[in-house]
Amino acid sequence: MSTSTVRGRVGLVGLGLMGRGMARNLLRSGVDLVVWNRTRHRAEALSDDGAALATTPRELGAVVDVLLLCVSTGDDVEQVLFGEDGAADGLRAGALVVDCSTISPRRARSLSDRLARADIAFIDAPVSGGSEGAEQGTLAIMAGGRDADVERARPLFDAIGRKTTHVGPVGAGQTAKLVNQILVVGNMLAISEGLLLAEASGLDLERTIEAVADGAAGSWMLSNRGTQAVRRDWRPGFTVDLQQKDLRLVLETADELGVPLPGTASIFQLYRTLQARGLGGEGNHALVKALEALADRRVGGPVVDGAPDDR
Ligand code: NAP
Repeated sequence: MSTSTVRGRVGLVGLGLMGRGMARNLLRSGVDLVVWNRTRHRAEALSDDGAALATTPRELGAVVDVLLLCVSTGDDVEQVLFGEDGAADGLRAGALVVDCSTISPRRARSLSDRLARADIAFIDAPVSGGSEGAEQGTLAIMAGGRDADVERARPLFDAIGRKTTHVGPVGAGQTAKLVNQILVVGNMLAISEGLLLAEASGLDLERTIEAVADGAAGSWMLSNRGTQAVRRDWRPGFTVDLQQKDLRLVLETADELGVPLPGTASIFQLYRTLQARGLGGEGNHALVKALEALADRRVGGPVVDGAPDDR
């Protein structure tokens, strides 16, 4: 926890898997928080914890000094800020917008430029650590923006995360997040292949994870999502659909830069096979199911025959 405190009132838009954990940790750290969520009952659930509710993003913008966003895509961020009754219409000059959604670096720069015309500062601050990290306040935060703006937001970052790295100017946080996503899915593919081999060899899968987790191959993905895959628990910390949204951003950015990413491109196609099967709402560890289909073999168990959520 930071020793410095947040100056002024803080708003948060987007109380999904990530945003609701962030909101609770902000409240726990004593932040004077106002929230708005498109689906209202999710916001109402937070009023018991002490959050004030706004009826539109514009109303919320008008009463806060710092506005955090954690919505799905770049279009959604744009809509919350600049759509009808958007927050930008309410925000005062001198306010700061901190966007924790994962969007393209290019879009982050364009939003920042647009807000700057109204003298509103912007930081891109995508996060990593899953819904567990949001719940526990242990997120890794990758910030892009001016020094003074990042320092102004730091007490908030300290309330929701364990480590904040100021990577560079606006857009740099999102670029670091794309790097993070390449590492996440590459890791998940390796975990899936490893589990498939272990299963085919007759190894106990949980014991196998235990055997390697503390060595050089250990990772957050292995311990959390690998274990979930072995238990065939496909509840999402991060959905396949959102994973694909991020991989699309990775591949678009790589295309702009002329960088070949053959591994990530293949993983994008494997995830597409899951979306084609209607599994886009499952967790990103369901990648193992794409390999199961190729191998005509199932990993882990116990398996309930014909269970619609275990295809
Ligand atoms: P989520 O559970 O699907 O929640 C999305 C939130 O955005 C919901 O509150 C949703 O409102 C709101 N929203 C979406 N479109 C909107 C729009 N047009 N206008 C207003 N509100 C809108 O997603 P999440 O997992 O929390 O992820 C949020 C962001 O964090 C994404 O950019 C994601 O890539 C990133 N992220 C997620 C994880 C993770 O592990 N989950 C990790 C790191 C980063 P409703 O309640 O009305 O649907």
